[in-house]
Amino acid sequence: MKLAENVVMLDVAVPRGEREMLMHPTLAWDEAHLVLFDTGIPGSGKYFAEAISAVGKRAEDLTDIILTHQDVDHIGGARELLKRAPQAKIYAHEVDTPFIEGTETPTKLAQVLAAGTTGPRLDFLQKGFEASYLPVDVQLKDGELLDFAGGIETIFTPGHTPGHAAFYLKTAKIMVCGDAANVADGVLRGSNPAMTWNMEKAEESLEKIKSYDLAGAICYHSGYLKF
Ligand SMILES: [Zn+2]
Repeated sequence: MKLAENVVMLDVAVPRGEREMLMHPTLAWDEAHLVLFDTGIPGSGKYFAEAISAVGKRAEDLTDIILTHQDVDHIGGARELLKRAPQAKIYAHEVDTPFIEGTETPTKLAQVLAAGTTGPRLDFLQKGFEASYLPVDVQLKDGELLDFAGGIETIFTPGHTPGHAAFYLKTAKIMVCGDAANVADGVLRGSNPAMTWNMEKAEESLEKIKSYDLAGAICYHSGYLKF
């Protein structure tokens, strides 16, 4: 879905077991940059590349891959996309970086291990993260501005994970929310409680997102809300 002159929300369906997982990564660009926000679960690379082709761009031309947070459905396709676009730089908020690099146990995996949960969920997370860990080239801080694709402001939005960040596309006035927000019944709501590390922080982060001058918000799992 084209949302602005240089912003598209992709709809990517990736097989996961017998079902499909639908995700809404964002693509933004200028003359010198092609920027992707989030990359899917491991195995998503080719589906993301197809979705990028379908809007007239090429995964091989990606220059910047921005990860909103450490979860496996956001970082898992990055290695595959880097094979197509080895020049691309990986960005994430500094707080989630050690989890993405695998130097600390990712938050959701740590929760499952602490709860003593076994079975498919543990298996999915353990194998998924093993296949996903990768180095972060650029660690971002709250308020940091990336001076391309119309200007991209980093907004620290912890709650869903400790180091979640949303990204404000300044020219388009569109918020890339990651999992810090969801669209439900035409309203912007916060992080899904069942998947949230810290609900209080998540609520504060939602308010922070809503305080911006927004033309629209892209939620990774629930799609676009126009304001
Ligand atoms: Zn997610």
